[in-house]
Amino acid sequence: MRGDLLKKELGIFTFQDLLEHFPNRHIDKTQIGKINEITQQTEYIQVAGTLIDFEVFGERHTKRLVAHVRDNTGILELTWFQGISWVHKNLYVGSTYLIFGKVGFFNGKPQIVHPEIEVFVPAVADGKAFLEPVYPTTEKLKARALNGRQLSKLTYALFTVLAEKDIEENIPMELVQRLGLMNRYLAFRSAHFPQSDESYKQAIYRLKFEEFFIAQVRLNLIRLQRHKVSRGLVFERVSDYFNGFYNHHLPFQLTGAQKRVLKEIRNDTAHGHQMNRLLQGDVGSGKTIVALLSMLLAADNGFQSCMMAPTEILAQQHYNGLSELLKEMPLEIALLTGSTKTKERRRILQGLLDDTIHFVVGTHAIIEDVVQFKNLGLAIVDEQHRFGVAQRAKLWNKATIPPHMLVMTATPIPRTLAMTAYGDLDYSVMDELPPGRTPILTVHRHETARASVMDFVKSEIDKGRQAYFVYPLIEESEKLSYEDLMQGYEQVKSFFPDHKYQISMVHGKQPADQKAVNMQRFVSGDTQLLVGTTVIEVGVNVPNASVMVIESAEKFGLSQLHQLRGRVGRGTEKSFCILLTGSKVSVDGRERINIMCATNDGFKISEKDLEIRGPGDIEGTRQSGVLNFKLASIINDKDLLELAKLEAEKLLHEDLEINMAKNLLLKRYLQLQKGKTSWSKIS
Ligand code: ADP
Ligand code: MG
Repeated sequence: MRGDLLKKELGIFTFQDLLEHFPNRHIDKTQIGKINEITQQTEYIQVAGTLIDFEVFGERHTKRLVAHVRDNTGILELTWFQGISWVHKNLYVGSTYLIFGKVGFFNGKPQIVHPEIEVFVPAVADGKAFLEPVYPTTEKLKARALNGRQLSKLTYALFTVLAEKDIEENIPMELVQRLGLMNRYLAFRSAHFPQSDESYKQAIYRLKFEEFFIAQVRLNLIRLQRHKVSRGLVFERVSDYFNGFYNHHLPFQLTGAQKRVLKEIRNDTAHGHQMNRLLQGDVGSGKTIVALLSMLLAADNGFQSCMMAPTEILAQQHYNGLSELLKEMPLEIALLTGSTKTKERRRILQGLLDDTIHFVVGTHAIIEDVVQFKNLGLAIVDEQHRFGVAQRAKLWNKATIPPHMLVMTATPIPRTLAMTAYGDLDYSVMDELPPGRTPILTVHRHETARASVMDFVKSEIDKGRQAYFVYPLIEESEKLSYEDLMQGYEQVKSFFPDHKYQISMVHGKQPADQKAVNMQRFVSGDTQLLVGTTVIEVGVNVPNASVMVIESAEKFGLSQLHQLRGRVGRGTEKSFCILLTGSKVSVDGRERINIMCATNDGFKISEKDLEIRGPGDIEGTRQSGVLNFKLASIINDKDLLELAKLEAEKLLHEDLEINMAKNLLLKRYLQLQKGKTSWSKIS
């Protein structure tokens, strides 16, 4: 019964789960407050009071039980909405109880809803631990009397039967000693029932380190073993394709960052182990050319390459861009998407099979089983956060020896997040923009200033530039988003009459080919304005566009705003990003807008995003599981994470198989966790 509730409400299935259900904080049991000391500022209070009455009011779901307790200073009201019959059965008027809970005020009088309550036993000064853990619990559990106190008793009881050997050390002794870590058994014990503030601190430090360390060992094990034992294709030659292009067709000098990443890629692919590299580069940092040069490297070694983009528009654009760059090169490139016509499709499938097509750019269409290669050597995934791990794995299976993988993302990821969410990949950062860019000026304007915003946009267009207007996708209702967009379109049209200005519109409801046509008209400069939803978010490259107007900007997340802004500032002209909002903006919304106005640095923005939203919410990391730390936080414990990574790598460099005697405990722990079965069930 209780077991069921614990499972349902807190996810506690086993003793280990119970051990890992850590208290939020501890209270000193000897600290008993007085009722008349409660003020509006009091958050939690613990009092000892005698029950004077209780009464049930209301019917069914309005039913509540109100009780009063008295100490020698005043009277406090207690209320239950659930578990009323339990209160009826178990509390007695005239008995004295120890009561703990969060204070609220109702009609000016203090009260506690669903207090923790137990028979009061005066604390005896027996020198025992008196820091009592307070556990996170739920209203339902509280109402069933399985409150924090009960959990505490359960956990305490568990420790009376657990011996040191039952909570075995999992960090090598040498490391425990060198870092001065508390041993594992003691750490668990002290996290729940500390002897002092100091021992609590040490326990938490140790447990956080353990969480990071174990995760880092796991992730780096995958990464380092791949370097050592995985089989991979060897790109040993740098020859005519690469050099020919580099020397004669490269339209600009590579940035230092681009050169460094290329070196990393060459190094990764030269040694017979599979490359699995994440390339992070802020919007506009020039990832495409790095991708192309890598593809040329593959071609020099007799291999085909594919490049996947998340949308048809992007695939088309990559195809156009790459075809243009390659037009003087004796290489065949094809575009394969959902809307490729049957005949062309057949031609491409054949060409990939007989190796007359060297490069294929496309959407998800590329991973379909019918697409077979003669000799796939390199698979590139652009804008990675829209592709899942499973989809990447499908690419691996298109060759007997898995192709090298280059995953590119324009959503900068804070280092700590990358270390945990993508710790199994190698990663490169391009933290330098090509020269000659003028920074984008970002401003916030209220709806009331729309007319002057429109005038400004007009003046830019009259100078020969182009502009975007983006409307949010309303998650709950596609219909509403669509209506918003249509209204917006009409509004823009009223400012930009069609005898003088041309407008393209793109949105998710359009058939792909229509979308592509509209987009293409903007890309080619036939239209000066592009009105759309976030479908234009990723990758689109129109260097002549200099204004990005984001409507209802408060409705967008930070990384999305940054992505959208990245659509301008791609040419040499000064560019502008205008964030339009109504007059009412939430606190979070305002913070996002302030950050956007303050910086253009994608990495800074991603750090802020992580702070505001927490790691669980960052796109693409949700399912990864590696972020489920119970105590440690990649936001607040960065230094500890760095330390854990360093130590994990050090250990693996010395003992990649984890076979040395001194690492035995760690090995055993990892094996145990793999087939993580419960120690024993709570019934
Ligand atoms: P992203 O990293 O966002 O995918 P792109 O690859 O689309 O960026 O490049 C953005 C723009 O910068 C393109 O117009 C590209 O031609 C240009 N570019 C890339 N590298 C350089 C460079 N080293 N010097 C000058 N321009 C560059
Ligand atoms: Mg790109």
